[in-house]
Amino acid sequence: MGKEMEKLEKIVLNKIDEMRDEIIKFHQQIIQIPSENPPGKYKEVAKFTERKMNEIGLKTQVKRKNVIGELQNGSGKTLIFNGHYDTVQAFKNWTKDPIGGEIEDGKIYGRGASDDKSCVTAEIFATQALIEAGVKLKGKLIVTAVGDEELGGLNGAELLLSSGVINGDTCLLGDGPTDFPFGYTGGTMYITFAITGKTGHGLGTPDVPPPFRNKYSGINTIEKMLKIMNFLVDLNKEFLQIETEYPLMADSTNKISWVNLAEIHGGTKISTVPDKCYLHCSVNLIPEQDTASIKKRILDFVEDLKNKDPDLDIKVQIPISMEPFVIDGKSDFAQAVKKSSEIIHKEVKEFKLFMPSTDAHWFQERGIETIIIGTGRGDNNSHAADEFVYIEDLINTTKLYALTALNYLK
Ligand SMILES: [Zn+2]
Repeated sequence: MGKEMEKLEKIVLNKIDEMRDEIIKFHQQIIQIPSENPPGKYKEVAKFTERKMNEIGLKTQVKRKNVIGELQNGSGKTLIFNGHYDTVQAFKNWTKDPIGGEIEDGKIYGRGASDDKSCVTAEIFATQALIEAGVKLKGKLIVTAVGDEELGGLNGAELLLSSGVINGDTCLLGDGPTDFPFGYTGGTMYITFAITGKTGHGLGTPDVPPPFRNKYSGINTIEKMLKIMNFLVDLNKEFLQIETEYPLMADSTNKISWVNLAEIHGGTKISTVPDKCYLHCSVNLIPEQDTASIKKRILDFVEDLKNKDPDLDIKVQIPISMEPFVIDGKSDFAQAVKKSSEIIHKEVKEFKLFMPSTDAHWFQERGIETIIIGTGRGDNNSHAADEFVYIEDLINTTKLYALTALNYLK
């Protein structure tokens, strides 16, 4: 194989260099089509993406505005490329036009320029380069451009997988940093505590303890929530004790797991006993943890509180619960990604841990080996004003996708 493969790799890389202007132009155009989520109006961006996929010769279908392109060559493994075209909203404080696609100093500006339209552009042009280079991949390459990622992915990647529209052995997913392949991903839990109490006059019938209280006394839900908050703060102290063994990028602060006390609502007036209190938290899990044991810790604590306090009316909801995942670094797919990454960057690239959740877990939960690599860097203002992508990163990501498909579906 050696020499033959090296030759093919060169041809494909040259193709991508030749397509540079075309890639930049397409990327500016896709940025110029707003696809903020919410509201999630994807008709135009889906049409634009599907048209391009058709142009390069993919067999396409669109399922609820999610675009799928397929390239099939005989039997073999199936590799999925997954990028999302929905973006967070483009708010004020931009000095550039968020839907302008302006170029300055080797950067393309706009909402989604990096997160994650860059990966939609990269995966499509990677496929085009393979086709134009006359590469005959064995097996199937599925190129997906989905919506809804920024709100959890239920109507995007999850929908395509659960309805059986797509399935595969492996997935290369954008939506992450660019310098390393990410073979280890953190988990996520969203937890809501809702306490119901009894309102009353804050001065006349406050929530006092026995023997001072009577049937008119209020039940103060903010005070009760304090116990939950103190428990979570203590849990964080425990989390400080377990550092992940998986390598992170140099500037990452995600060595440990953490309960983020994100939102609290409760009370109506300064003179009234609050009868409702809600607390929303998010937890990031390192690969050494699992959602079940954290869930058990929390529910056990709440059960114990209830047993001690008959007035405590509390509900715990965990609407999102995603496990951390780690790949087998020796698999064919991992090796293909690693090799491609090393060809492009001309240095050894070990797998790293990426903690924030993405659409990756939808694939991982179904046993589809998933590796993340995108165009993100600390400075490119993803989810902030003046988001941009470095053109060099866009091109390199395109190359990485192409070489991975070439090396894996050989
Ligand atoms: Zn994203």
